[in-house]
Amino acid sequence: MRLHSHLPEHLLSRLILGSELVDVDRDDLAEITGPAGAATWPVAVASPEHALRALDAAAAAQPDWARTALADRASVVRGYRAFLDAEAEALARLIVLESGKTITDARLEVAVAGAVVDELLACAPTAVGAREDGDRTVRVTTLRAPVGPALLITPWNFPLSMASRKVVSALLAGCTFVLKPSERTPLTAMYLVDALCRAGLPTGVGSVVPSHRSAEILAGLTGDPRLRKISFTGSTAVGRKVLRASTTHFQRVGLELGGNAPAVICPGADLEAAVTTIWQAKLYNNGQACTAPNRVLVPESAAADAFELFRAAATGTAVADPWTESARLGPVISEAAADRLRRLVEAPHGGTVVTGGVEPGTPGASVPATVVLAPDPGAGVCVEELFGPVLPVVSYPDDDLGAALALANSTEYGLASYVFGDAAQTELVAAGLDVGMVAVNRGSVSHPKAAFGGVKHSGFGRENGVEGIDEFLETRTVLRPLP
Ligand code: NAD
Repeated sequence: MRLHSHLPEHLLSRLILGSELVDVDRDDLAEITGPAGAATWPVAVASPEHALRALDAAAAAQPDWARTALADRASVVRGYRAFLDAEAEALARLIVLESGKTITDARLEVAVAGAVVDELLACAPTAVGAREDGDRTVRVTTLRAPVGPALLITPWNFPLSMASRKVVSALLAGCTFVLKPSERTPLTAMYLVDALCRAGLPTGVGSVVPSHRSAEILAGLTGDPRLRKISFTGSTAVGRKVLRASTTHFQRVGLELGGNAPAVICPGADLEAAVTTIWQAKLYNNGQACTAPNRVLVPESAAADAFELFRAAATGTAVADPWTESARLGPVISEAAADRLRRLVEAPHGGTVVTGGVEPGTPGASVPATVVLAPDPGAGVCVEELFGPVLPVVSYPDDDLGAALALANSTEYGLASYVFGDAAQTELVAAGLDVGMVAVNRGSVSHPKAAFGGVKHSGFGRENGVEGIDEFLETRTVLRPLP
């Protein structure tokens, strides 16, 4: 019963189509269960036909929304921003319910969503502004025009902040949208867009179509030339399908995909501070963040001490009920995700496994905090994206930052990375990392003013700030002869 009290009842069994809440037929309902509780609740499952209705609405509303002054578009976003503050605790509790993250991490997600919206609002005039140039014979005006109706596909691990920054970037750029959130976390996305509707989002501009029929929805929408943009955050495997689907009508695509972040500790770095920071970053979101440290690289001379520190960190961490204020680590999203992590840890890798505990009565699929000391750097536990509270620690030859860099760059991913050391070392390593984001002597690559995104199999395109809005804009040049 406790869980049900956190559900926004007016959003149950409903979709948002063309900025309006709509009921669905009985056939389009499903019961879902959160990862941290036995209770279930009814949600609407959008069909491909619902998604096409959403695109009809977005396409019809696009010309007017594009012509709406930026100040008026921003005023709707400001209404949504006020909601993030006013209903912060209700949002955080819904996020715990749907995703299983700890209440502390859920509150942080709401705060981060707000800070990102503030920054997007602040830089929107720069992002959409026109530029004048030319020579003695011609005046060249470079306009920034909205790309058009956008499909926004989001994952479950940050159900509010990922959807929020895509939706707000699209709206400020002048694009209408169809949001396809993860089928595991539909209500957080509905709550977000419902708040925008209450803040004055015009008819047609925004829709939410939660569904597990993602492949059919993607095929239907990308097969329609009115869709002009796809912004996808999720796994690399699905990102590849999105990119392929976009080739029929050449929709613009942004892909925020998986990661395997290396954390490089340089010789002479403050080992205790580095381990504490890396461990904290690892536990964030129950290890289920695309930016989570996925491998630690330590110099051989510091390896024994680093292993001891990580051993103590793992044994000192217990999986706990995510609703508990003191919980630092909660359950992972599903039994399937837990099984996958167990298989990676149990597979031959040559390392030593050290695990922490699980507090009695912890609900959900528990994977204890785990460190794998000195595994083969080519083992699955090192090269795969872990997406859970498991952390391999490997060593590299002392005074050979080149070897550390080669190891750091040896996976197919290139999203986040971490480096710990003095100014000269960290500058050298940061310059050699083949990634989109580097955190130096800190445990987070996220900041509202920092463009967010990756390279290689972590995708392309950027979110946040001017770069984030830019993803939803086309360049149009107008040339006028001068007398
Ligand atoms: P996922 O790829 O399974 O799902 C992401 C979204 O795609 C969901 O909405 C899902 O319903 C939808 N989807 C699934 N199959 C689809 C298909 N065939 N066609 C169209 N859409 C489809 O990912 P997930 O499990 O929700 O999230 C975890 C993954 O997301 C991890 O790999 C993580 O690294 C990545 N991620 C990346 C970032 C980033 O910014 N780079 C941020 C968060 C998560």
